[in-house]
Amino acid sequence: MRTNVERPLVLPAQTLGLLRRLARSAHPREACGVLFGNPRTREVLRVAELTNVADHHLDFAFDPQEQLDWWVSEEAEGRVPLVLWHSHPTAELYPSPADATCMAMHARLDHLIVSRWTARAFRWRDGVMPVELRSKPGWFRVG
Ligand SMILES: [Zn+2]
Repeated sequence: MRTNVERPLVLPAQTLGLLRRLARSAHPREACGVLFGNPRTREVLRVAELTNVADHHLDFAFDPQEQLDWWVSEEAEGRVPLVLWHSHPTAELYPSPADATCMAMHARLDHLIVSRWTARAFRWRDGVMPVELRSKPGWFRVG
């Protein structure tokens, strides 16, 4: 049974396409960023790709100044961060231990892991939980 809390993550189909292209162009490093949107409907309206300043190529860390700039300009337009996203250059689309720590720290946000081909969504509920991912207008089932 689906509760309101565990509703699927719904993204515009073109957003998923854009994230996959960003994952491809960052390869073999991880692309990363934030999806901003409407806090009431949780509709994603803006894709932010942030510079990955992590030392290791299989890790990600947002450029802090870029992150702050995006936060300020998006919130001025009434959009809030809804999803933290990053890519995995390998086919493995499950959260790493570092990803799980990030999800626990940002438990109010959804988390999207993107490959060059597909994506999986996760949410923190006393642990990492997979979330159904849908795209508008069509359905985009993964997993
Ligand atoms: Zn990861």
